[in-house]
Amino acid sequence: MSHPDHRGDGDGWVECSLGHRHWGRFGAAGLLAHRARPDGSAEVLLQHRAEWSHHGGTWGLLGGARASHESPLAGALREAAEEGGVDPTHVHPDGQYDDDHGGWAYVTILARAVDHLDPRPTGGESIDVVWWPVDRLGDLPLHPGFAESWPVLRDALTPLSVVVDVANVMGSRPDGWWRDRAGAAQRLLTSCATLARGGVPGSALPEQLPRAPLAHWWPHVSGVLEGAARSAAQHPPDAVEVVVAPGSGDDAIVAHAAVLTPPKLVVTADRELRRRCADVGAVAVGPRWLLDLVEQPR
Ligand SMILES: [Zn+2]
Repeated sequence: MSHPDHRGDGDGWVECSLGHRHWGRFGAAGLLAHRARPDGSAEVLLQHRAEWSHHGGTWGLLGGARASHESPLAGALREAAEEGGVDPTHVHPDGQYDDDHGGWAYVTILARAVDHLDPRPTGGESIDVVWWPVDRLGDLPLHPGFAESWPVLRDALTPLSVVVDVANVMGSRPDGWWRDRAGAAQRLLTSCATLARGGVPGSALPEQLPRAPLAHWWPHVSGVLEGAARSAAQHPPDAVEVVVAPGSGDDAIVAHAAVLTPPKLVVTADRELRRRCADVGAVAVGPRWLLDLVEQPR
């Protein structure tokens, strides 16, 4: 729900195609914030719902009705700020899951905490807002919608990783890169940042990549630089991790991909490298995959 001072047009009940009654004329959105505990296991941010609310007394996500003009991401972040005091600049969205009932959908934004959060009940809909260990979620009476989505969401807590073979992708685009390798690498890293910020629809991922059925992913993107392109690493865009290969670029790509948690993609057309990536559990896609995503108008 919205505060009176910016009440949206989404407040109201609707009946979905499955015959349920839901809050939010244009659907609803919620934030699944998560972070690692000291022992490496995950914990998620939950709202203990006020008794008077729909499914009162249960535990679920900070969320609520979306306004007609509002993206799911904007709606989820607004609700989390209003109801749980979550600073939107302290979370990084990794994925979007659409639980579509037909005529109504609940969209969950998965986001990892990248800075200290100070969650607390800041709206009238929360009894409490707490970090809760994923392993102990079964101890709580969960909101039925959240409980149903949880098996999918749990599998999606690890973000998609995309590793870009910068030399190979550069070489696939005849834009004069051979005259200025560092400049061309810099341009490609900018494209990588576009991918990280804009994300990739789940439908654009290769079928053979095992992953959760998310509608959208905001991947962690890294670019591996070698040779004369290395000087581009002095001015990398902040949305991209730059890995500078000390020797062979291929060796650096395989070593980097090996330590990433799936799902993971490597962007390269190099056949031998594609085979080596498969050995470390990464799925390879060609340069066109990346270039189509970043060059098409959004
Ligand atoms: Zn429904």
